[in-house]
Amino acid sequence: MLNINNLHVQLEEEDKQILKGVNLTVEPGKVHAIMGPNGSGKSTLSYVLSGKGGYEVTEGSATLDGQDLLEQEAEERAAAGLFLAFQYPVEIPGVGNMTFLRTAVNAQRKARGEDELSAAEFLKEVRAQAKSLKIDAEMLKRPVNVGFSGGEKKRNEILQMAMLQPKMCILDETDSGLDVDAMKLVAEGVNALRSENRGFLVITHYQRLLDHIKPDVVHIMANGRIVKTGGPELALEVENNGYADILAEVE
Ligand code: ADP
Ligand code: MG
Ligand code: MG
Repeated sequence: MLNINNLHVQLEEEDKQILKGVNLTVEPGKVHAIMGPNGSGKSTLSYVLSGKGGYEVTEGSATLDGQDLLEQEAEERAAAGLFLAFQYPVEIPGVGNMTFLRTAVNAQRKARGEDELSAAEFLKEVRAQAKSLKIDAEMLKRPVNVGFSGGEKKRNEILQMAMLQPKMCILDETDSGLDVDAMKLVAEGVNALRSENRGFLVITHYQRLLDHIKPDVVHIMANGRIVKTGGPELALEVENNGYADILAEVE
C-alpha cells in the first residue's frame, strides 16, 4: 500500500537535511505506529507524504498502491486516498466546517468517478459521524477549527477522516493535548475505520494512545531514520525506559 524507500528530504530554504533514508512499508489492514524523540523528523515525514511545500526530496521514493506520491499535487494525493490528520490543525476563518467537509467529500468522490452525495445524504452521514465523536452540531456550523479547543480540533480531524474514508490515514500526534476521554473518542474513531483495505500510520509520543489503538508494528524514528522496528512491546519498552536505551543500542 504505502511504500517509502530510502527517502531523503531537506529544507528548501536552507541546506538542512531532515530525513536521512527512511524505509517503511504499510500493508493494507495494518496499523503502524511511529514513535521517536522530538525533532526526529516524524512530522516532516507526514508533511512530505501529504505534499506540503518547503521540502525538497533529494533521494528515494514514496508510492501509494504503486503510484508515485511525490510527483503529485497535495490534492491529487488526497484524491488518491491519502489523509493526514495534522499535529497542529489549521484554523480556516470564513469557511464553515460543514461546507469544508462537503466540498472535500464531493471532490474526492468526483476524483473516484462517483456521484456527489446529495445534501440530505451528506447531512445524515456527517451528523452520525459527529455524534459518535461527541462533536456538537453547533461546531459543524462554525468556521473550520476557529475558536475550537485543542481537543475539539483533534476530534474534528478524525471527523474529516471518517467522512473521507481514506485508503491510507496518517495521524500526527493526534493524541497530544487530549485528555483521557477525548483520546478514547479519537481512538474509537480510528478503530471504527480499521479495515482490511485501509492502512494507518499513527505518529505518537506516548504509549497511552497505543493502549487504545493496537498497532501491528511499531517503529522508532531518530535523527531522520527509522532505527528500530518491532511489535507493540517496543512501545512499552519506550514507555518504561525512554528512548535512551534504544538509541544507545542502535549507535
Ligand atoms: P518531530 O515531528 O519528530 O518532532 P519534525 O519533523 O517536526 O520532528 O522536525 C525535524 C527537524 O527538522 C527538527 O530539528 C526541526 O526543527 C527541523 N525542521 C522541520 N521543519 C523545519 C522548517 N520548516 N524550518 C526549520 N527547521 C525545520
Ligand atoms: Mg515534535
Ligand atoms: Mg511532530
